Amino acid sequence: MGLFGLFDKKKCLVCGSKSSPLTQYKLLDYSYICTDCKNKCSPELHSADFASKSPATIKEHIAYKKDNDVKYKNEFKETASITRGSEKWSKKIWAVDEENGWWVNLTYDAPDLFTFKQVVRWEIDIDTSYLTDQDKLRNIDYNSGRPDIKEIPPCPQGKKIDKMRMRIYVEHPWIKMVKIPLIDSSVAFDQKDIENGYAAGEKLVEAFKKYTGK
Ligand SMILES: [Zn+2]
Repeated sequence: MGLFGLFDKKKCLVCGSKSSPLTQYKLLDYSYICTDCKNKCSPELHSADFASKSPATIKEHIAYKKDNDVKYKNEFKETASITRGSEKWSKKIWAVDEENGWWVNLTYDAPDLFTFKQVVRWEIDIDTSYLTDQDKLRNIDYNSGRPDIKEIPPCPQGKKIDKMRMRIYVEHPWIKMVKIPLIDSSVAFDQKDIENGYAAGEKLVEAFKKYTGK
């Protein structure tokens, strides 16, 4: 093997195939993962998660995910769900199986199963743009990420919400954080979507409080 040239095909050390590597998903020790293997991993894993894993660990992860997907398909029985947005931003984003005690992030087609016991904490974060220069001076931060603030921040009056997302931190063998987008002005940005996204956030917080008892 030569030096790591920019256009070299590299061997995926997970499956052994020689293909264009996903350079943003580099594993430990300068090894790479290919698109096929990446697609078999949990969608909740991000580039930073891959950087700390060896090919052997990724193989274990792929086995976990395969098992998870079979369980989700055959055993998950949805008893309640939460939907966000309107029209093109409309999506069922979360569901619960109250009998088995599982919840899923339906932002992804093949979601991981989580239990409520695995939930450590959650936060909602809202990015706003300012309507006037005077607003800019106030520089208000609506991040509720502090563990002592578990309440959703009040809907900012007279400001546009650019982005709003919920992050749920979990104690899980493979996943640290689950992210659910609620409002994204780059996709949809009308008042209805903002209100519906905000309401979905409130419902999610309510649901996590109810099922975790936190
Ligand atoms: Zn591969």
